[in-house]
Amino acid sequence: MSGAEIPVELPVPEPQGEVQATVSGAAAKPNGLIQRVMDSNPYFAAGFGLMGVGVLLAAGRQVVTRGSTFLYRQMLVDLEIPSKDKSYVWFLDWMARESVAIQNAPPEVHTGLKGRLLRLRNLYTSSHHLSVQTTYKQHDNGSVTTNFSLVPGPGKHILHYNGAYIQVNRERSSRLMDLTSGTPFETITLTTLYRDREVFRELLQEANAMAARMNEGKTVIYTSWGPEWRPFGQPRRKRSLNSVILDDGVSEQILQDVKDFLKSGNWYYDRGIPYRRGYLLYGPPGSGKSSFIQALAGELDYNICLLNLSEQNLTDDRLNHLMNHIPDRSILLLEDVDAAFNKREQTDESGYKLSGVTFSGLLNALDGVASSEERLIFMTTNHPEHLDPALIRPGRVDVRQLIDNATPHQIRRMFLRFYEGAEEQAEVFIKGVTELGVPVSTAQLQGLFVYNKGAPDKAIEMVPLLKG
Ligand code: ADP
Repeated sequence: MSGAEIPVELPVPEPQGEVQATVSGAAAKPNGLIQRVMDSNPYFAAGFGLMGVGVLLAAGRQVVTRGSTFLYRQMLVDLEIPSKDKSYVWFLDWMARESVAIQNAPPEVHTGLKGRLLRLRNLYTSSHHLSVQTTYKQHDNGSVTTNFSLVPGPGKHILHYNGAYIQVNRERSSRLMDLTSGTPFETITLTTLYRDREVFRELLQEANAMAARMNEGKTVIYTSWGPEWRPFGQPRRKRSLNSVILDDGVSEQILQDVKDFLKSGNWYYDRGIPYRRGYLLYGPPGSGKSSFIQALAGELDYNICLLNLSEQNLTDDRLNHLMNHIPDRSILLLEDVDAAFNKREQTDESGYKLSGVTFSGLLNALDGVASSEERLIFMTTNHPEHLDPALIRPGRVDVRQLIDNATPHQIRRMFLRFYEGAEEQAEVFIKGVTELGVPVSTAQLQGLFVYNKGAPDKAIEMVPLLKG
């Protein structure tokens, strides 16, 4: 070995691996760092504390919201009545009637136990926002009494019915309008306790029964209103079949035919034939065609859907929709069908152009009338010769009946109906009318008899005027 050995202090190599390990170890344990920072900085500590409280509160709120929704679902029950639904009108009418009943009830009904024991439905609203609901009552002499009653307007109200509390929420849409009536869409939501849910059914049944009572003994005439049927004016008193005097046996024959048809539902279904029947009543004006259909509807306890084919804004689509959405127990009446065709103009392929309806559109609509309910279609015309044979072929028109000017049989019956027991004068009157040698309509006779009310001799004197 040469030379002395000099001890050399070698630099200790940097422990690379350990440094790396330390760095990665710091990243893996942030709490340690945070802890240190928090320990050294009180502001951080307070901030994290607050954040924790915030998170807890948010979670708590979620629990409460979900809990209350759960409870709401479990304990309460809603019923939604949109303004498009029939029961909407019934419900408002019912509320209007109930409030009138309460307003007019004797004082003990409002207060005290007696009223409660009587179980008189005590309806009251806790409302400061009312709207007016107008109701009419038509008397037998045709006069109308109008009643205004106040019903809860849009907003929330409470009412008490059959022992249950019900919240009524009337909401009006600010954006959606019912274009046919120009009124905003509305929804009424009724809410009550789940255990009282049966009260909804009772309430709607009562409202429905009340609506039916209002129309009892009446014939409702519907007309088209945009794409739907709406009652036209007040329901009319039923007209009795005896009051329309047709030639011998005609009235009875049609009535029998309709009754047979109404009983034959299964026959039609078994053979897959649409359950409908068409009738055409034709003859001169004022012979009682429309009056007879109205009386027939009354006899059958049906309503009438009156459609005017000459209406300007009636299109094929609307016609089709209307004919397929006829209210139950209604006769569809197409009056003066020839009038629509008189104005016809030829168009390219679609057939005759009526006002807004094409002839083929009318035929399609008639053929398409299909429903699980029976359909009775009546058409009237003063000019059957103007009708296209395609319109009156069997399947579209199954029964054709002439309703003509007054025959001696009809003259006698009408005369005796106005002048009871005046048999001899009736014969003189018939002779006078026959000698005129001109057709006289039953409407003309009615006019003469009404003018000479209670005076048959005067009616006889005035016979020559029927010629004019
Ligand atoms: P049409 O529909 O045939 O033109 P309407 O039924 O409109 O006739 O009758 C017009 C008026 O004449 C009504 O007031 C109706 O009471 C009366 N009238 C017409 N024919 C008869 C009839 N056969 N019996 C009773 N009233 C009739």
